[in-house]
Amino acid sequence: MAEKIIDIKHLQKHFGDLQVLNDVDFNVDKGEVVTVIGSSGSGKSTLLRCINLLEIPDGGEIVFEGQDIRSLGNKVSKYRAKVSMVFQSFNLFNNMNVLDNCTIGQVKVLGRDKKTAQEKAMKHLKQVGMAEFANADSTRLSGGQKQRVAIARALAMDPEVLLFDEPTSALDPEMVGDVLDVMKDLAAQGLTMVIVTHEMQFAREVSDRVIFMDKGVIAEQGTPEEIFGNPKQERTQQFLSRYS
Ligand code: ADP
Ligand code: MG
Repeated sequence: MAEKIIDIKHLQKHFGDLQVLNDVDFNVDKGEVVTVIGSSGSGKSTLLRCINLLEIPDGGEIVFEGQDIRSLGNKVSKYRAKVSMVFQSFNLFNNMNVLDNCTIGQVKVLGRDKKTAQEKAMKHLKQVGMAEFANADSTRLSGGQKQRVAIARALAMDPEVLLFDEPTSALDPEMVGDVLDVMKDLAAQGLTMVIVTHEMQFAREVSDRVIFMDKGVIAEQGTPEEIFGNPKQERTQQFLSRYS
């Protein structure tokens, strides 16, 4: 039987009068790849940010491996290592080289010694094709290279789940494929991932399940065949028609 790793129940989030998430319910099983699609403003980033505790939900529950994440107390940094987020804008530390970007969290949050952390970082830089840039100044990299470093940095923390918020939306078109290829490899290795994306072909290929969000609710979810091949809701059909 599938093991639930994240369980979200009746999640609510408002910003002022604006209800951004309204009774969002879903779970993520170990090893599952869930993609989240939907128009701009539908609440996708807020959903990921709530899972990562960058936003505090107003209501409902997010349970990670059996624990309600509101009760983490001072363990939020350790939680963010386990449920690690990759951002559209990379968020590398610009004053550090590539290797230091991939070791600092391991040392500070996981308490690894520097040598172990560097070996681990190199392993994951190799995995994303960035080992030869280990000593490079991170500000000098292209967007696609930065995003691959950001993925290596997240992997070096031994995450249980990786969250991706439109990881290729800020990239020049010729860089998108490299980053998607890295993510496909991770999916093939069985990493649990929740991916917000506008890359529909990628979502179709890589997902176990697709969630379509509209105005703060999950309007429809299903297998890629169901959502892309035979969407039931009119708003899903309308949304997808813009991509074909
Ligand atoms: P998406 O990622 O699907 O484009 P978001 O989750 O970023 O959607 O945003 C959903 C809605 O919430 C939008 O209307 C956005 O303007 C609003 N919103 C997001 N973050 C904030 C915030 N920190 N303060 C106020 N409104 C916000
Ligand atoms: Mg967003």
